[in-house]
Amino acid sequence: MTRLVLKPGKERSLLRRHPWVFEGSVAGLEGRARPGDTVEVVADDGRFLARAAWSPSSKIRARVWTFDQNESIDHAFFKRKVAASVARRQRHPMLSGQDGLRLIHGESDGLPGVIADRFGKVIVLQLTSAGADKWRTAIVAGLTQATGCETVYERSDSEVRGLEGLEPVSGCIAGELPVETLTIVENGVRMVVDVVGGHKTGFYLDQRDNRLLTGQLAAGRTVLNCFCYTGGFSLQALAGGASSVLSVDSSAPALEIARTHLALNPQLDAARAEWLQADVFEALRQFKRDERRFDLIVLDPPKFAPSAAHADRAARAYKDINLFGFRLLNPGGILMTYSCSGGIGQELFQKIVAGAASDAGVDARIIHRLSAAPDHPIGLAVPEGEYLKGLAVEVG
Ligand code: SAH
Repeated sequence: MTRLVLKPGKERSLLRRHPWVFEGSVAGLEGRARPGDTVEVVADDGRFLARAAWSPSSKIRARVWTFDQNESIDHAFFKRKVAASVARRQRHPMLSGQDGLRLIHGESDGLPGVIADRFGKVIVLQLTSAGADKWRTAIVAGLTQATGCETVYERSDSEVRGLEGLEPVSGCIAGELPVETLTIVENGVRMVVDVVGGHKTGFYLDQRDNRLLTGQLAAGRTVLNCFCYTGGFSLQALAGGASSVLSVDSSAPALEIARTHLALNPQLDAARAEWLQADVFEALRQFKRDERRFDLIVLDPPKFAPSAAHADRAARAYKDINLFGFRLLNPGGILMTYSCSGGIGQELFQKIVAGAASDAGVDARIIHRLSAAPDHPIGLAVPEGEYLKGLAVEVG
């Protein structure tokens, strides 16, 4: 097998089971390999370290499949890994009954570059690395076998594929999409999942538990949900007994789906919901001018900082919306604020929010620290996997 030889000392992170080999760690390749081929990663003294997928176009030159010298990378390997990932969800009491569930969460489930979300009987697959792309057939077979789902729809249209030298791919790769609108029930609320045209795989499963908490905190409160997408937080707030819910997003298609959710959930009081298509940065300023106030505000913006290089500009954007969030809260109100930027760590995010509270002149305390739901685990060896962080902050 082709060997990927590391520079002296560059084996350390692999010995800690971190699964990436960066460009700068590579001394050379002994033999030939095409993108996605499995190579044996060895230290400069020839010691075996891992088997990994070769990715010549990416700064991450190889992503590890296994640290075990006795394990070969073949069809059976993917079947085992996929089955184990699915079984972990089945064992978790908060996950086993969910019909919207992340089944595979990339590196943290030992499958770099592989994301698989299940929505009822449909699995949406996203492959973002050369190695994952090469093993598509084995991964799909593993998924259909482990779940009994027949339909797998590929949404490998994320920009990060470009970094791996891969073209965007989307479409059905197993079975057929149901003709009727696909829906899931999340904590008692029926939600539409647009697997073909929606963001990411069609739905933000990572916020499931935080949406539930929002519902629990919303009783009797006036709620403002910023960056509402298809209304996940808004619907849970209504279900939790919010007195009114104003939801803002710039995307017309997302809001269109959001509105249909009220018809799909007749148990919710549609008269309490208002949807606004607007830029959140402008809408917050307008609410301030109009002297509107809210008891609970959710800020769940898109990724302002995809990497650390964007951190400065992103920090200013987070500061801005959080500042206005605090200014628009009634005394005793709660701000539920998130960042899904890998480039902004938990500590920095908390500092930004603290700065916003201080500029707004409010007394504020963290009442909940929030993160992604447990079907989006963070491998202890891969802290980079931690992207979503949030704070529930009470003021006054
Ligand atoms: N909270 C949502 C997910 C939010 S995703 C959920 O629980 O499902 C981020 C959303 O922000 C997207 O719907 C996108 O359309 C919207 N968005 C991005 N920039 C925006 C802006 N400047 N103003 C308003 N909405 C914006």
